[in-house]
Amino acid sequence: MKIRIHGITDGKHNIKLQKKVKDLPDIFPEFIGEVELNGILTKIQNRFSFIGKAKCEANFICNICLSEYSEVIDAVVEVDFVVNTNMYFVQKDSDIEPIDIAVHENDTHYDITTDVKDFLVLSLPMRCLCYNCKDKTFEEVYMKMKTNDIPIDPRWDKLKRIN
Ligand SMILES: [Zn+2]
Repeated sequence: MKIRIHGITDGKHNIKLQKKVKDLPDIFPEFIGEVELNGILTKIQNRFSFIGKAKCEANFICNICLSEYSEVIDAVVEVDFVVNTNMYFVQKDSDIEPIDIAVHENDTHYDITTDVKDFLVLSLPMRCLCYNCKDKTFEEVYMKMKTNDIPIDPRWDKLKRIN
């Protein structure tokens, strides 16, 4: 996912990018489908600031009822970077996390892929709860399951016939 930075005017620019999850190396396996990124890139001389939203569907297993469900994950993506070749080379040889990422003056694009992946992962829920189990305690759900109040996914019907 690359944002064009070369030859653009100072000011605000709308950014809209899409990429298939399978084309994003090392993304968490929960994510499926496509990552969408929408936002605004602001350029002031050699300084760039991107603020936007990344969206991607992800598969989860409910912590309570263990059913599979999917949910769209929204992540705010904020990145500041500066075109500064000297700083770029200093950062390249350093392990310190920079406040402003420096890019080489010959770079025509800023690769935002890693930022998008990082912000998406940070937005994954700590507790995975499906639609049926949201706002419920384990005991409540378990009692409901025992009394068959929760409709069972029709895909499991075949299993009922196995004896
Ligand atoms: Zn559940």
